[in-house]
Amino acid sequence: MLTIAVSKGRIYEEALPFLADAGIMPVDDPKTCRKLILQTTREDVQLVIIRATDVPTFVEYGAADLGIAGKDVLLEHGAESLYEPLDLNIACCRLMTAVPKDAPPPQGRLRVATKYVKTAQRYFADRGIQAEIIKLYGSMELAPLVGLADCIVDLVDTGNTLRANNLEPRDLIMNVSSRLVVNKAAMKMKNQAIATLLEQFETTLAQR
Ligand code: AMP
Repeated sequence: MLTIAVSKGRIYEEALPFLADAGIMPVDDPKTCRKLILQTTREDVQLVIIRATDVPTFVEYGAADLGIAGKDVLLEHGAESLYEPLDLNIACCRLMTAVPKDAPPPQGRLRVATKYVKTAQRYFADRGIQAEIIKLYGSMELAPLVGLADCIVDLVDTGNTLRANNLEPRDLIMNVSSRLVVNKAAMKMKNQAIATLLEQFETTLAQR
């Protein structure tokens, strides 16, 4: 049995064609079904659809053999514990800093609100910028509007969320896309099945 952990939401939706080309179609729709393990049209493959930040943890500990997660989440987790053999080039967006429109430069130490604490710390430290990182779990855009932070680090796709909150993107930290990750022990123990799946995903990618 192969277990694949997939991030909920946009990544799951965009991963479906890759899975379908490999003959893997979930029997139930996770939007309407409360089951946490989804059986698929392949008897030897099951899916777990979980929060993005939990995907690397499931794969690292071998609770899932493979995972599909954004590079943002993998970098924040510390991906050296996993193999990352394939960029699926889906759910593409940018990790950026953003600030209120027309804001004067902040005085003193920069306060940054983000859920990407480690990535933000590294980014500002590499640039010699003294920053106080404030961990939030959501609605980062709110932080500068209510004086909690000078700046945010968050994912930007269309930029609509920033615009709607009178913020503007500043610096690109990195381009983000979703990657296939593999548990290191599973790569050895289930090599044949994983190698075949990888080839199928690569074929789908090449046809795009
Ligand atoms: P947008 O308004 O299109 O720029 O999208 C920004 C919002 O969507 C932010 O709240 C992001 O955290 C979220 N977002 C954008 N792209 C992604 C992605 N690929 N994966 C997860 N969240 C995303």
